[in-house]
This record gives sequence, C-alpha cells and structure tokens, in this order.
Amino acid sequence: MRTKSFKNNNHILKAVLISASLLFTNSSLFVPAASAWDSDSSKNPTHPTHTYITEWAIDQLKAGAPELQQFRKQIIEGANAELHELPVSGTKYGIDLNAKRIQHKGTNEGCDDIQGWWQDSLNAYRQGNKQQAYFLLGVMLHMIEDMGVPAHANKVYHQGNLTEFDNFEFMALSNWKPNFNNINRQDPGFAEPWRYYAFSQEWAHADAPNYNNRNSFSKTWTFASKSERALLSNRQGRTSNVVKWALNSAVKAFK
Ligand SMILES: [Zn+2]
Repeated sequence: MRTKSFKNNNHILKAVLISASLLFTNSSLFVPAASAWDSDSSKNPTHPTHTYITEWAIDQLKAGAPELQQFRKQIIEGANAELHELPVSGTKYGIDLNAKRIQHKGTNEGCDDIQGWWQDSLNAYRQGNKQQAYFLLGVMLHMIEDMGVPAHANKVYHQGNLTEFDNFEFMALSNWKPNFNNINRQDPGFAEPWRYYAFSQEWAHADAPNYNNRNSFSKTWTFASKSERALLSNRQGRTSNVVKWALNSAVKAFK
C-alpha cells in the first residue's frame, strides 16, 4: 500500500529512477527479485552493498587467512546470490541454485535453514571442493548481511522491484557510508558461524525496533534526518563487523 509519504517523495524517486535507468545497458528493472542490501544480481550499476560488506570483512582477515584472498571471487559471488522465496535458475560451482534455495527454505527476509547452508559449505571443504565451499560460505554470509537490514530483521515484507521496495534499502543502494567507529557489541565468539544469523537479526532489531513500514524511511541521503543517517551508517558498519566475525568463525572451523 502506498502511503502519503510515498506520494510526497514520488517525484524525487522518479528523478532518481530516470537517472539510474540511464546507466543500464539493458532494459531490466534494477533490484528485481527479493532484495535486501542491493546485490550484483540486482544489476546495480554501482558497487553492490553486499560486495562492499563482504570485501571489507575479507580485507580485515586475509593477512591471517590467505585462502580468503585466494577464493575471494567465490565468496563475493555467493554473497551476491539472492536465494530467498523466489525461483532462480542456473548452476554455480556444481550447485543447482534453485534446488538449494528450496532445500534451505528461502524466505522473503532470509531463510529458515541457515545451518544447512553452513553444513553444505563445511562438507564441500572437507571433500576438497574449496571453490564450492567458499561460494556456499558466501551465500551464508549474504543471509547474515540481509539480517542487518531493519526490514529483514523485523520481517517487513518487501521486494526489490519498483512498487514493493524498502526505503532503507533504496537509500543504501547509492550510499555506502559505513560507520566503523560505533560498534556497540563484541564478537560473541560462536564456534558455529551460522549462529551469527540470529545475532545479526537481533542487533538490527535492537537498532530499529520500530521499523515496521517499508515506506516510512527517507529514500535519499539529502532528505534524511540525522537519526536516519546514523541508522544507515551504523547498520552498514555493524553488519560488516558481524560478517567479519562469522567469516573468522568459518576460517577456524575449516582448519
Ligand atoms: Zn538477499
């Protein structure tokens, strides 16, 4: 349902969409399918947020874990996969994406079998299929990243299309402004990396307990309030840290 605030901001949105559409090489809508932070599969012409978050986490850890750099491509590919409630097609690193999406119970906000994604990754690693293992690890990180978005953490239904998008995500699409100096939690040190999914969700919920309407947040940095800007920057910085912690946990478990 379109609210009044949506109508008021509609002309701004249109201007943004028109300029964004000029950047596309094909005519597909940007951010199709289920989305959270924008991902590579959304045809975002800018650097996708899932890539930013994942790259930051890898860069923090790669000195002590060279494989993260070696399999950087696979991790980032996984982190940009949208394997939620909507059908997908294709195979990557031997993984039938749609079959796996169904097996691990993709939902609009994330999935109902995060442990299954991790178990698949660990199994692949132990079998020596490291490309597949790191791709699957990336998919797990994607879900943890999604939980860092208020609409996902609070289960506010939305999509990435033009009529059902979430305003917070829309603003994040073109604003990577993480605050890494306001991390108000510590790594709980989970031995099982999938446990960071619920941790990420709980943290995002605590930061935005009343985020229950995908149309209420500002869509642009220019018109955002101070508290909206703080929420976006904190969520980007904090989610990046959760992903670093989860990745570190996975590195230890692979050993
Ligand atoms: Zn997603």
